[in-house]
Amino acid sequence: MQTEAIADAIKLTAQLLEVHGENPFKIKSLSNAAYRLDKTDIDLAGKSLAELEAIDGIGKSIAAKIFELQQTGTTKELRALLEKTPAGVIQMLGIKGVGPKKVAQLWRELGVESPGELHYACCENRLVELKGFGAKTQESVKKAIEFTMANAGKFHYASVEKTALQLVDYLKKTMQTELVSLTGPMRRKCEIIETIHVLVAADESPDMAGFEQESAVPVEIELCKPEEFYRALFLASADVSHLKQLETLNIAFPTEAASEEAIYSHYGLQYIAPELREGRGEILLAQRNEIPTLIEFSDLRGTLHNHTKWSDGMHSIQDMAEKCIAMGLEYFGLCDHSQSAFYAGGLKPEKLIEQWKEIDTLNEKFAPFKIFKGIESDILHDGSLDYPEEILKQFDFIVASVHSGLKMDREKATTRLLRAIENPYTTMLGHPTGRLLLSREGYPIDHEKIIDACAANGVAIELNAHPYRLDLDWRWIPYALEKGVLISINPDAHEKEGLLDMYFGVCVARKGMLTADKCLNAQNREAITNWFSRKKQ
Ligand SMILES: [Zn+2]
Ligand SMILES: [Zn+2]
Repeated sequence: MQTEAIADAIKLTAQLLEVHGENPFKIKSLSNAAYRLDKTDIDLAGKSLAELEAIDGIGKSIAAKIFELQQTGTTKELRALLEKTPAGVIQMLGIKGVGPKKVAQLWRELGVESPGELHYACCENRLVELKGFGAKTQESVKKAIEFTMANAGKFHYASVEKTALQLVDYLKKTMQTELVSLTGPMRRKCEIIETIHVLVAADESPDMAGFEQESAVPVEIELCKPEEFYRALFLASADVSHLKQLETLNIAFPTEAASEEAIYSHYGLQYIAPELREGRGEILLAQRNEIPTLIEFSDLRGTLHNHTKWSDGMHSIQDMAEKCIAMGLEYFGLCDHSQSAFYAGGLKPEKLIEQWKEIDTLNEKFAPFKIFKGIESDILHDGSLDYPEEILKQFDFIVASVHSGLKMDREKATTRLLRAIENPYTTMLGHPTGRLLLSREGYPIDHEKIIDACAANGVAIELNAHPYRLDLDWRWIPYALEKGVLISINPDAHEKEGLLDMYFGVCVARKGMLTADKCLNAQNREAITNWFSRKKQ
């Protein structure tokens, strides 16, 4: 073992002991030793225990550790520590500005177990009120995590879209052509992006010196002749399985094409939007001319599931409502956290009564714009909702979500959700799996059972539009639609700007072939008011 690796192992031991709140003197002596070893040029290889003990500044116990590391590559103590610490918690130790003590606090007090969960906790302002943290620390922690995530080579769509669009503009300008387009997963609006692919009709590579790229995502530029642009665009945009299924039609690829529409009509198919070119049954539908008109952002009439200062949001109800009005929306569904979510300022019944008064006043002020009295009710461990019936019945609508006890097996998780769906006060199921893209898988659920139950109970399903969630996964939308379940594209906004996240929900909803008439919050104010009251009866 190299001296450097030995120093690292001792440092990690010290950090983990601190995470687990062990003896501070022992921790201090280990981290001092690690520091010294890191700086030393003494070669520790092949030294006997006695020789190690003789080295200046290395005591008996450290020498024993070094010897054990030399012999076995690890120590018993380190192995035991690693065993009782989740891998994600260990990863959190690598985040700049978060020492072992803070990691321990985040883990114990917020239940955060990975850098991704920590990032999301920052997005939800969980660190602002946490002792020893605050808004500034929260911001720097968030930045530090974003940096590591970017280095892992995978990016949330939302974090690279701006770069991609700027790149297209830049290429159009520098290459003096309109024949520039995103291709690949970026054009298909996939939720995770590894590379931005761009196609340019040009003879030689563009000069990229003038392009200041904001994000670390790799960029690949493909060149083609102008007359080949649409054929190349088509080939570079679709997923391989889409192209393979086209091949089975036994029609040769057109030798020229003036547009992608022309290519599809060459195959005798209805036009297929880029988002759909995944090889998931879209070609069959196009053959029968059955691809519906996909939902667009402008179809949305309101927004449900949003947080304010009353729980863990940044802005007041009035601020949020005014932003909605500025966006041209007709209603705003308020869904602060319920009482069990104490870490997120969940509302006790007496607080709710105060909040409803404020809503009544604002509703008079902003009419006909409407603020609906909703709640994001925690689904408790046994599947029940978080208030007694006399409170539940006073809400206009209820989003039921799981926030605690995320480590369940499929059967337990499904049963828990089913109970919540069967509760007559549940209007919709919030973020069905609790996943965080690129950082947390979410609990396993039997999607078919859950969707069937929503259909049977007239419960809508949320497509949480936060770009880190996008949960319900769009791949399940067709099944939900087939069963007649409405989908609600919810931003889960914790601040005004968060309302715009509905756009990312629309991007993936299109991939799932959602249409405006099957989207709950594409209904106008009157229709949704009726829908809520029908559901309550
Ligand atoms: Zn939630
Ligand atoms: Zn929420």
